[in-house]
Amino acid sequence: MEPRFLDSLTPEIRELVKRIEDYASKAILVQERPDKPKAGCLLNHHDAVICLPTLNPFPVEDVLHELLHIERNWPAKVPLLFTTNRQSESLVNVYAGYDNQLEHLVIVPQQIKYGFDATTRWNECQDKHWTGKFWEQSPHPADKRVNLLLSYLAVSILVTDADVKNKAESVLRFFGLLDEAQKFAAKIKRVIQDKPLVASAVKRFFPLADGDVQLILFDVKVGEERQIAIPKY
Ligand SMILES: [Zn+2]
Repeated sequence: MEPRFLDSLTPEIRELVKRIEDYASKAILVQERPDKPKAGCLLNHHDAVICLPTLNPFPVEDVLHELLHIERNWPAKVPLLFTTNRQSESLVNVYAGYDNQLEHLVIVPQQIKYGFDATTRWNECQDKHWTGKFWEQSPHPADKRVNLLLSYLAVSILVTDADVKNKAESVLRFFGLLDEAQKFAAKIKRVIQDKPLVASAVKRFFPLADGDVQLILFDVKVGEERQIAIPKY
């Protein structure tokens, strides 16, 4: 990472950058991308590029968040959820969204040890998410169920505000999905640190149309991606 960006980070976060870069033997790039609505990361088995809508002020918490994504997928060797139908760009994006939701369940609590407690931010963001009726954008009933159950994971694991939890649970009750959502969340919580088992639970709960779930590991040391088997759970 360029020194001008490193200088804006805390010593603990600089240490995290060093750990990742030493492991990968390459620099993490930071790019200003005013065309993007929010911070994100372009990651594969060769490169990691943190994209930020603005560099001024330098968004330290967003950078930390993206670094934790990279740490998981590179040195911690946590595979990512992909569709088996990778010719479809829209499906690739949909699955990337699913993977993001699952990764946040681990990453957001990790931010605390770097001095960035995102609890309030997540309470607010989930409040907006459920008030905004995200499920109405799902064209198929199957997608609606997937989106509702996956979204409930963040409520169950990250949200501390009782009003937000109640709001989400009353929506699930309305659709007759509360019991299933709670069972799914309990199953995921038991194996949250084991991504292949998380993928296995997702695969069982969601018979997804247009392709199935696969797990891909970005092996940056070898410079290739590998498919990881999904065990039974
Ligand atoms: Zn994220």
